[in-house]
Amino acid sequence: VAGAANCVKQQAAGEQAEARTAIQTALRAESRTLNISFDNVAMAASDFGGLYHHRPSAMVSPATVEDIARVMRALSRVPNVTVAARGNGHSINGQAQALHGVVIDMRSVKDPSSASISVGKEADGSFYADVGAGRLWIEVLDATLRHPGLPLAPRTWPDYLHLSVGGTLQNAGIGGQTFKHGPQISNVSKLDVITVNGELKSCSPTSNGELFYASLGGLGQFGIITKARILLEPAPQKVRWIRLVYVDFKEFTQDQERLICNRPAAFDYVEGFIVTNNNDAAAGWPQVPLPEGAFFNHRLLPANAGPMLYCLEVAKYYNACDTSTLGQQISGLLRALRFVEGLHFQVDVSYRDFLDRVHTGEPHLRNAGLWDAPHPWVCLFVPRSQIVAFDTLIFKHSKLVSKGVGGPMLVYPMLRSKWDHRTSAVIPEEEVFYLVALLRFSLASPRGPTAERLVEENEEIVRLARAANIHVKYYLPHFNRQADWQDHFGCKWNHFRHLKSKWDPQAVLSPGLSIFSPPA
Ligand code: FAD
Repeated sequence: VAGAANCVKQQAAGEQAEARTAIQTALRAESRTLNISFDNVAMAASDFGGLYHHRPSAMVSPATVEDIARVMRALSRVPNVTVAARGNGHSINGQAQALHGVVIDMRSVKDPSSASISVGKEADGSFYADVGAGRLWIEVLDATLRHPGLPLAPRTWPDYLHLSVGGTLQNAGIGGQTFKHGPQISNVSKLDVITVNGELKSCSPTSNGELFYASLGGLGQFGIITKARILLEPAPQKVRWIRLVYVDFKEFTQDQERLICNRPAAFDYVEGFIVTNNNDAAAGWPQVPLPEGAFFNHRLLPANAGPMLYCLEVAKYYNACDTSTLGQQISGLLRALRFVEGLHFQVDVSYRDFLDRVHTGEPHLRNAGLWDAPHPWVCLFVPRSQIVAFDTLIFKHSKLVSKGVGGPMLVYPMLRSKWDHRTSAVIPEEEVFYLVALLRFSLASPRGPTAERLVEENEEIVRLARAANIHVKYYLPHFNRQADWQDHFGCKWNHFRHLKSKWDPQAVLSPGLSIFSPPA
């Protein structure tokens, strides 16, 4: 057995050396003018998830979009090569990695014509920003807020803005504004995409529409996005950020649903999360108060409170001129909600601080060793009709999350009609569906549990839900078997596979997803 294992190892090492030589040969001419590293590739073999460490044969740091096209053209002559674009490396499961292949670092594109963020106006008066795909959402926010005369901003956001535009558009880009404006992939009107042959294609719903929709939510399978046109709206100055505590899950979700279905929308942002009903610093009452550290009076909780509490999080945008009526307006909106009286927290912050709120907690997590440890996160979409069953099964009665997950356990609804069904993203069939996200933060083993154990716990949660006939779909999916991908895509699978055979028949792009392998 040991002999056979050695033989397999030697064969793998031989293939790796061969791949590396072929890539080096193909890129040699380019490496005179391009920044290509064949040894210093550790960054390309890492991501926020910390579960996969696949070393590529080369990491390319292009300065311009043309550099990316040149690299793709050069690599098109290499058999079985794989290529992954890397945005800001915040994937969980190695999605931006390419074992023995080539990783293209989109953050290094810096020349003004490729990486600038420029605001423009459509004929109908609406604003947009043309953004280099390697730029972070925080950079987009800062640039659009500086628009002279009228500060602007994208309409819809993820919770964390230090993600690249290109990387987020591979998934969907969801957050508390999704119920109102849809995910970020529903707020893009144009893309520039470099195909696997190194051709630059400008695409929109009316021009190269197939590649446009395939690329949105396309998990990096169809091309490298180099630029995106993002829809903007006038930015408010301030935000009233509110948290309300519930003990009853049904009341919590009914109120969330009422808020997302209200027209016009009562609030500009609706999310929610679950905390344990105790004083645990990472998972319990201390996670709720706004401003942070305000007193959480647990004596106000009714006697029937269970092991978990539910926190509705909403936000209302406003400008300095609205302040006289704001308090009254918000009191009116809150009166209809069924949170525990007295367990109501709020704070006024600038719009920028509100959007960048998750980043504010980052230094603390880094100092505590929680940022650089593995993050076996799991994010699921759960149909509305089954969210109460999910709560009962997993949050109320399963030991798997009874002590929390060391980080946020998000639960919030969104509307299917705000998603464009022509994109590649996969969501449940019901009009209202929930994101359930277990964003685990724990110290690396041996100071904390092993990442393998936590991955198994995530899988167990999904197994339990499916055994109870709860039709969960993964957000930020990752599978190792094509049959699981087929199951994930459901009725979209044949179309997705057809698009892949058209735009990347040799399965070069984003190998870290393990959806397709090169034809034999
Ligand atoms: P990377 O990890 O670099 O890449 C992700 C995938 O996109 C890879 O397959 C890669 O090959 C591909 N890719 C990257 N750039 C391009 C490009 N230009 N063209 C083609 N393919 C490309 N998601 C949400 O929707 N909402 C949230 O609120 C949210 N919060 C998060 C908070 C944190 C702390 C973290 C770590 C993640 C969060 N995510 C959220 C998930 C996040 O959107 C995805 O992990 C996203 O892919 C990360 O972007 P990135 O730039 O780091 O991508």
